[in-house]
Amino acid sequence: THTVRLILGDQLNPLHSWFSDTDPQTLYLMMEMRQETDYVRHHAQKVIAIFAAMRAFATALRERGHRVHYLQINEADSQLPMVESLDAVMARTGASVLEYQEPDEWRLDALLKEHLAQAEASGSYSGRMVGSEHFYTERHQAQSMFKPGSRWLMETFYRQMRKRHAVLLDAKREPEGGQWNFDSENRKAWKGFPPEPEDFRPRHDHTLLWEQIQRAGVQTFGTPSAQSFRWPLDRAEALAQLETFATDVLPYFGDFQDALSGKARRLFHSLLSFALNTKMLSPQEVVERAARAWQGGGVPLPAAEGFIRQILGWREYVRAVYWAAMPGYEAHNFFDHQAELPDWFWTGKTHMACVSSAITQSLDMAHAHHIQRLMVIGNFALLAGLNPNALHQWYLGIYIDAFEWVELPNTVGMSQFADGGGLATKPYVSSAAYLDRMGDHCAGCRYDKKQKTTADACPFNALYWEFYDRHTRLLSHNPRIGMAYRQLEKMQPEEKEALFEKARSLRANLNAL
Ligand code: FAD
Repeated sequence: THTVRLILGDQLNPLHSWFSDTDPQTLYLMMEMRQETDYVRHHAQKVIAIFAAMRAFATALRERGHRVHYLQINEADSQLPMVESLDAVMARTGASVLEYQEPDEWRLDALLKEHLAQAEASGSYSGRMVGSEHFYTERHQAQSMFKPGSRWLMETFYRQMRKRHAVLLDAKREPEGGQWNFDSENRKAWKGFPPEPEDFRPRHDHTLLWEQIQRAGVQTFGTPSAQSFRWPLDRAEALAQLETFATDVLPYFGDFQDALSGKARRLFHSLLSFALNTKMLSPQEVVERAARAWQGGGVPLPAAEGFIRQILGWREYVRAVYWAAMPGYEAHNFFDHQAELPDWFWTGKTHMACVSSAITQSLDMAHAHHIQRLMVIGNFALLAGLNPNALHQWYLGIYIDAFEWVELPNTVGMSQFADGGGLATKPYVSSAAYLDRMGDHCAGCRYDKKQKTTADACPFNALYWEFYDRHTRLLSHNPRIGMAYRQLEKMQPEEKEALFEKARSLRANLNAL
């Protein structure tokens, strides 16, 4: 063997140029590692999904004539740190070159860079990093897309991306429909119609793999669903999922993008994030498919545009923020929030119906849609003053699509405002009124959405006002929040004191909520 090419668990792109030729001197290396299962506690489905997809990828490579060395979690070497396993393979095969695709995580990027430098210095082997051929943008490209010293607004980034990649542009290179953004049309609540689309994803039986994972001692949480597993194994399954989404679901994506319901877990979201983040699908093909669905007349423009913005805009933008902000982004704590996560983050057993439903679903499916992550769980966490780093570890562990480059800016930046507004222009917080307007949980909840200080008052209400009050110094000058402070000023002192007292007692008893 001359060259070893390392493939990480989220680099399952069979169209990468690496695989266009077979070379008997090249050995592909894939490793299931305790180093990667143990850096946070993961949802069982996340571990199963990644290992199952890696195994399928290795099999497909072999079938195409490539040589693959695959380390399974039940083999002793899976306990070794990654770089030791790497060195062992390099020594055993006599390879002189190590190649790897750019890791998306800063942690692995730094680790491999440093290790390679040592290997080169000691003369053991040389190496190089190649592109992952996945994203629209290079890691640090955003720097050149914003004026020096200006705010990195998502909308500015997104418009440039639309122009650069000619997405939803008319013949004059103006945005289709005369607007860049149709968000104001995409805020409907869902009243049960149209019915939630059927889930056509195939089922897999991963019982044997799950037994191996458990026997290896990997600690996980959440429902494994090993016998009836719904996440795609490979590109063919992911493409089929994209197809049914584009035809049956995307038409309604826009209308109900911000909706919440206790009766529909997925609503009209795509469930494509796992396939995208493991690179089974490219963002380009997903965006192009959505644009084509609009051109074909079956999908309203606001739906296609809203969906495309998530991928061409948000997904690339948060990655840009990640690379600009690392290392150290995970330590931000603008509000100095220190509360531990309540125990019910691991059980879903809270009386707040919307929060219970979002967490229970996350434990069952390893997925929750954006509004559940942002406006239910994240909203509560921010109002309650939970520690943003602890929350980041929870989000990184629980979701099927959670990889640090995308999870961290979403959690620490967008959801918790812990970077002081680098990413979000104002904190995403709300009282019960918003949750009631966008969702249907309040009717069946033990708490009363209209009450603020009574024993049965919805906790979001008092917490909301006390959040603003306790952070007046940090937030009151923000022009986007002026309304809240004006409303606070208008309240009678006794009313305010009762609210704040209520919120303090809620925050002192989070486990009891
Ligand atoms: P859809 O609603 O169908 O959206 C389509 C695609 O757009 C998604 O698959 C995703 O690739 C992309 N997308 C949408 N919103 C975002 C966003 N804010 N940032 C980046 N990409 C986006 N997304 C992840 O992929 N991994 C994470 O670990 C993750 N953690 C999050 C944590 C918090 C606190 C919040 C508020 C959001 C997080 N998101 C994360 C973004 C978003 O919630 C998920 O991408 C989405 O719910 C995935 O489900 P879907 O594929 O059905 O998405």
